[in-house]
Amino acid sequence: MNDCRDKMLELMLDQDIYIYFYIDYEENRWHLENNPHMPEFTMSEADNPIDSILKDARLAEEDKERFSLFAEKLREGTAITKKDSFIKIQFRIKSEKGGLDWYEIKIFPKYAKHSSIPLITGTIHKMNEREIKSRNILNFYSNDKNPAIFADIMANRIRNDLDNKYAVIQFDIIGFKFINDKFGEAIGNELLHHINDVLDVYCTERQLYTRLSADVFMIVTCYDELSDIYSFIRGLEAGMSAFRGIKYNFAFGVYLVSDRNISTRIMGDCSCMAREAIKGNALENIGFYDQKIKNNLSNKQNIEDKMRLALKNGEFVMYLQPKYNIPDSAIIGAEALVRWIDPEKGIIPPNDFIPVFEKNGFVVRIDEYIWECAAKQIRHWIDEGIPPVPISVNVSRIHLTDSGFVDKLEALIKKYNIPRELLELEITESVENVNINEMIQLAKDSGFRLLMDDFGSGYSSLNTLKSTPFDVLKIDRSFFSASMESLRGQKIISHTIAMSKDIGLELIAEGVETKEQAEFLSGCGCNSAQGYFYSRPVPVDMFEKLLRNSLFLK
Ligand code: C2E
Ligand code: CA
Ligand code: CA
Repeated sequence: MNDCRDKMLELMLDQDIYIYFYIDYEENRWHLENNPHMPEFTMSEADNPIDSILKDARLAEEDKERFSLFAEKLREGTAITKKDSFIKIQFRIKSEKGGLDWYEIKIFPKYAKHSSIPLITGTIHKMNEREIKSRNILNFYSNDKNPAIFADIMANRIRNDLDNKYAVIQFDIIGFKFINDKFGEAIGNELLHHINDVLDVYCTERQLYTRLSADVFMIVTCYDELSDIYSFIRGLEAGMSAFRGIKYNFAFGVYLVSDRNISTRIMGDCSCMAREAIKGNALENIGFYDQKIKNNLSNKQNIEDKMRLALKNGEFVMYLQPKYNIPDSAIIGAEALVRWIDPEKGIIPPNDFIPVFEKNGFVVRIDEYIWECAAKQIRHWIDEGIPPVPISVNVSRIHLTDSGFVDKLEALIKKYNIPRELLELEITESVENVNINEMIQLAKDSGFRLLMDDFGSGYSSLNTLKSTPFDVLKIDRSFFSASMESLRGQKIISHTIAMSKDIGLELIAEGVETKEQAEFLSGCGCNSAQGYFYSRPVPVDMFEKLLRNSLFLK
């Protein structure tokens, strides 16, 4: 039988011809036929042509996972049950010359005997130049995968199939741009193909899918219970995640269709909002469209409508949160934190509007405004004879895309004639990025003191510290508040502190809420702290009182 299989494989793969096969699930037999070069083979399920390819050492490594998913579906006979559709897979086989040849398998249902299980026919062929070239367009935008046509098919299905409940799912790869940057566009494209191919295999007649743009895909699926949607997504995600060992995550947004007559564009928008809303959530990557998202959206709209006028009207105000030396509780500095004082709503905390401003770019204006408030404040203290303490200002990452921000800071130093070391910069260190590192270095070279914000909360790692331009690490409260519970956690903190000091970095702990925390940190060698235990962020006049008291106590 093995001889026979080898021969079959040879013929299938080495000829530029179409091979036809069919699978009879009732008899559990596979047949190859319709080919003058080849006798008709009938083989047991175990020797079918698809599994032969899967077992063959020449199948490209990158395609194995996807191919085995495809083979499994076919074995189960559930891959296809609808007359007018077909599924396909494209895969690579190593050629004798050492290159890779593309092949395509297409599967069609032939006819349903008297059972519900269809007889399946398929073709295997080597793809020609033209087919390979147009693989891009073919895969993503052929017939029913064209988004414009898709909308019609989708509307038709949802409006006419009243027996089923429907959900619209949109998903994308979180940080796809980063994959393109890091691995190159060719790999990025290949990943998109991989996703498309997995969708091809994974989706049954219960689903429709299309690619909307770049890395955004949309699926329409029917469901009985919410759990159906979860298990569908989890299965799909498992298939899509295995690609060249690269790590990436997806964000899924789901809209459960409640009104079948609203436009498909709006259904798509709702799933898109749910997808955007779930991003940044560390625990979950499937978001459902609900009232909260709707409210957030109108809230966001409201913020964007009002932000410019609010800046003009002076509704953005700088608060200062004092920083303390733990051993003698003296004030050693302050962090500038913005507050929006809305005449109707009162004080709006930055977490409600900074993320919106970071998306629409307005954060640049707010930051510059706060930087100026800080510089002006330092000038004021000098003029009043109050020994000034440094104020650290937050520098949103958006500034770090061009070098202009250093010039702006320079201009403020000149305008208010203040010592540069009194205006410190807080920057959140996230993924390694050459361009951003250059900007940070530029600020360092201009002589500004740099504080690494939120150290220990996300991407920041000890590894990057060896050559960091930062002067101070701000230990995020999540880092020590969670770790302090266990002995092991305490060891991690004390070693991190010892190591940072060892390589010449200063430290400050933020979010210190209890005396125990302050004492523990100080015991480990971190003597600076900021947090509610000492003081919340306060208006400037209140800070000035605290500062005078602190000086008086000295
Ligand atoms: P951040 O830079 O990490 O600022 C520290 C945040 O922790 C502040 O929140 C502060 O009020 C809060 N905090 C301080 N001590 C404690 C404590 O003991 N316990 C707890 N639970 N929290 C404490 P706030 O003022 O609400 O600001 C939130 C975030 O908004 C800031 O986090 C920063 O990322 C951003 N932000 C604030 N002002 C600005 C600004 O002017 N520009 C930019 N780009 N971002 C800003
Ligand atoms: Ca900060
Ligand atoms: Ca922080």
